[in-house]
Order: sequence, then structure tokens, then C-alpha cells
Amino acid sequence: MARTTLDLIRETVRGETLFNEPMREHTTIQVGGAADLLLYPADREDLAALVKLLAERGVPYFVLGKGSNLVVRDGGIRGAVICLDQGFRGVERRDAADGRPRLWVEAGTALRTLVRWTVDHGISGFAEFAGIPASVGGAVAMNAGAWGVSIGEQVVELEVMDRTGATHVYPREMLRFGYRSLDLPPDSIILGALLRGGESTPATVKDRAKELYRRRKESQPVREPSAGCVFRNPSGGKAGEMIDGCGLKGVRVGDAQISTVHANFIVNTGNATAVQVVSLVGMIQERVYVRHKTKLEPEVRIVGEWEKGKLRISE
Ligand SMILES: Cc1cc2nc3c(=O)[nH]c(=O)nc-3n(C[C@H](O)[C@H](O)[C@H](O)COP(=O)(O)OP(=O)(O)OC[C@H]3O[C@@H](n4cnc5c(N)ncnc54)[C@H](O)[C@@H]3O)c2cc1C
Repeated sequence: MARTTLDLIRETVRGETLFNEPMREHTTIQVGGAADLLLYPADREDLAALVKLLAERGVPYFVLGKGSNLVVRDGGIRGAVICLDQGFRGVERRDAADGRPRLWVEAGTALRTLVRWTVDHGISGFAEFAGIPASVGGAVAMNAGAWGVSIGEQVVELEVMDRTGATHVYPREMLRFGYRSLDLPPDSIILGALLRGGESTPATVKDRAKELYRRRKESQPVREPSAGCVFRNPSGGKAGEMIDGCGLKGVRVGDAQISTVHANFIVNTGNATAVQVVSLVGMIQERVYVRHKTKLEPEVRIVGEWEKGKLRISE
């Protein structure tokens, strides 16, 4: 019997391979249909072999972090989803020649782990990220930030794998970070980042992280499933205040609801679907445009297909 792409992937990849995997279980807002394949490469060699094989077989891939900025459509994702959650974790101190603190962080490391590490070691510059449920790779890809600090400001260099399986090191001068964005060639996979920090003390960093997390809990629905802020702040304004100004807090479509705590969050109150979430997104854009003459742009990434359709990879 001829070997299928799935057979080849199973023979090639040493890491975990999940077939027809519901993405609602891998996104913080808990919506989305199944991905044909969800793959957790064991290490760089495994990842390189995988992307080469996918290229040879014409299978597209999507890189998943912690799924905290994603709305996956109800038909799921055709092709492969690659997640660095298992073989790509760790934080290591690699100071600059002049002794200033620098950290090498693997892309699959949870941002929460990095924040805790910097608290334990008294390194400043990361406490602002306490409470962002991201991976380091996803945070860098989105240039995540809070309290006036974005992670791109701390990046000294990035290591990235391209779609041929080759790795490249990009120094910061080559990187174009924008507001919640980083411009990289299509299909780039961030493997890790060298980040700069400042010298401080564990007690000072801990106090700052605790205080900022306390303020976050007061102003955001941190315990409910969401994808964080749905819209980017338009220049000179705050998306949440504009949405609130339209009286939309609490409005729902099915189980998707505009948070009563922070109007720029949509929360999943039970069994919301992507259709319901995206309907709310459209409704908000329309109402805000009518009232404020501003077109809100989504910050969340809406990915995948509406219809289940034919699997790109069959068993
Ligand atoms: C409760 C809550 C609070 C939040 N607060 C904030 C906040 O204060 N500030 C903020 O900026 N965001 C916030 N967010 C949004 C979200 O956490 C960030 O956008 C985060 O950067 C997404 O990281 P992730 O690992 O979850 O990436 P995912 O959501 O999985 O992916 C996001 C994008 O990054 C890409 N990506 C992921 N990993 C890689 C990689 N290794 N290589 C290449 N591309 C990759 C994906 O393909 C996708 O396009 C919040 C979200 C929630 C749920």
C-alpha cells in the first residue's frame, strides 16, 4: 500500500502527532474546529525534517504558540499546525561582554515562566508581561506588550527557521517591530530570542510584577476564556473606551459576549463558536464606525476555514 503523507510524517517526526485535533482545546478563547494535524517536534532537527517534508508534499503549515491571540474558524485548519510547546523550552543567562544581563529564551517557553525566572534572578524589563498567557515565540511574533513596554524593545537577536528548514540569526537592526506586529518572511518559525534585561533585585522585580498583575486583574476578565484585546487601539484613542461608549458591554451573540469588565474583550461564556465571536467583531466595528467614525482593526488573528471541507491530509 502506498504510504500517505500522514504515514511519512509519523515516520519522520519523533515528537507528538495529533490527527484531526480540535483547536478549541488549544486556544484560550476555546473556539475553533479541528486542525488536520497538530505536531509537536521534539527538537530543531525534528522540526527541520518536518518542514522539509511538508514542503515536499505541498502541505501548508501554521505556527501555534499558546493560542492566546487566535480565533480559529469553526471549520478548523487545513494542513499542519506546528507547536513548539514541548521541545523548545528554557531560559539561559548569556550576558553581554560588558556584563549587562542577557537571556536566551526558547520560543516554546511560557512568558509566565520567563517572568518568574526574571523575578527569581532579579532581572528587570519583564515584570510588565505578568499575566500575558503567551509563549515567548508568540509574544515576539506579536510584539506583545503592556504598561508601555513591548517585548520587541528587549530583543537583541532572533533565531528563526525558514520553510526549507534552514536557520537564520537576525540581529535587532534587521527586525521590523510594529504595534503588535513583527515583519518576518512568510512561514518563519521563531526558535528563540536573545533578550536584554536590566540588573535589579528579586524583591523589586517581584513587587512590580505583583502590582501590575493586580491592576490587570482589576481591569480585565482574566479568569474567563478570551483572546485578550480584540482590537488594536486606534491612533489617539482606546478601542475599549470607544466600544463602551456605544453601550455594548454585555452584548452577546450566543455564548460569545462583550465582557462586562473590559469592552475590548470578547469572552466565551460556555460553548461559543467562531461564527458567534466573529459576528460580534463585525457588530462592534459597525457600531464604533457609526458613532466614532473610526474603523477598528482586529488585534486577534482570525485563522482557518469556515467549512470543514476535505482534509488535506487523510488517514
Ligand atoms: C487574558 C489575556 C490577556 C492578554 N494580555 C495581553 C497584553 O497585555 N498585551 C499583549 O500584547 N497581548 C495580550 N494578550 C494577547 C496574547 O497573549 C498575545 O498576542 C501573545 O503574544 C500571543 O502569544 P501566543 O504564544 O499565545 O501566540 P498565538 O496566539 O498562538 O499566535 C499568535 C501569532 O503568533 C504566531 N506565532 C506563535 N508562535 C510563533 C513562533 N514560534 N514563530 C512564529 N510565529 C509564531 C502565530 O502563527 C500567530 O500568528 C492577552 C491574551 C489573553 C487571553
